[in-house]
Amino acid sequence: MERFERVLHYGGEAIPYTVRISTGRRERVRIHVHPDGTVEVEAPEEATAEDIGKAVQKRARWVHDHVHDARRRFEHVLPREYVSGEQILYLGRRYSLKVRHVPRPDRAVKLKGALLEVAHDQVSADAVRARVRAWYKLKARDYFAYRLGVIAKGLPWPQDVPKFQLKDMRTRWGTCAAGGTVTLNPFLVRANRECIDYVITHELCHLREHNHSPEFFRLLSRAMPQWETVKRSLDDMAEILLND
Ligand SMILES: [Zn+2]
Repeated sequence: MERFERVLHYGGEAIPYTVRISTGRRERVRIHVHPDGTVEVEAPEEATAEDIGKAVQKRARWVHDHVHDARRRFEHVLPREYVSGEQILYLGRRYSLKVRHVPRPDRAVKLKGALLEVAHDQVSADAVRARVRAWYKLKARDYFAYRLGVIAKGLPWPQDVPKFQLKDMRTRWGTCAAGGTVTLNPFLVRANRECIDYVITHELCHLREHNHSPEFFRLLSRAMPQWETVKRSLDDMAEILLND
């Protein structure tokens, strides 16, 4: 796949962007502003450099505004403090963290409406982080088992629901071992159901096709026709979802 760099000039600013020529059947030039403020332009094979430049220039203001918003948001993605009021994501929904200091026997982590309440005898960031992480793992174990069962039964090839395990991973959502065990990143439980289903479906396709061959993608597209859009939204959220 061909890639090259270009620069958009707008309002006295130079905004670099990467152009990716896609060989799919895309008909239009598509502009993506990533969560860290980088810009990627997907163009069909038949577009000329001039067409691409014009298409980006036409949306210069939109690009500029989105880049600035993304950069501002990305700055806020930086370290979590685990204090009341902080945003917690779970199954694609936003909750607000509420930290309460309680005696040891009353320790608990509970969703209450729009709040994730962490009642703990120690309220340091480390202690609260550990509690929240443990809660995510508990939720991930149940939810992934449920979705894995549903999806595996809907596909023609898995004979049984495969075994799965959770593993903290910095850059991956899931893997599938040759023996058939699926490994999933517990922080994926922060994403919405469609994103979770995409990762599970992807790994289940590896039971049939062990690498990313064209046959693998044909299988994946049959199992989840909209997977590319879902993958893109998951990629765009990665910085936020993996921030711990
Ligand atoms: Zn894969």
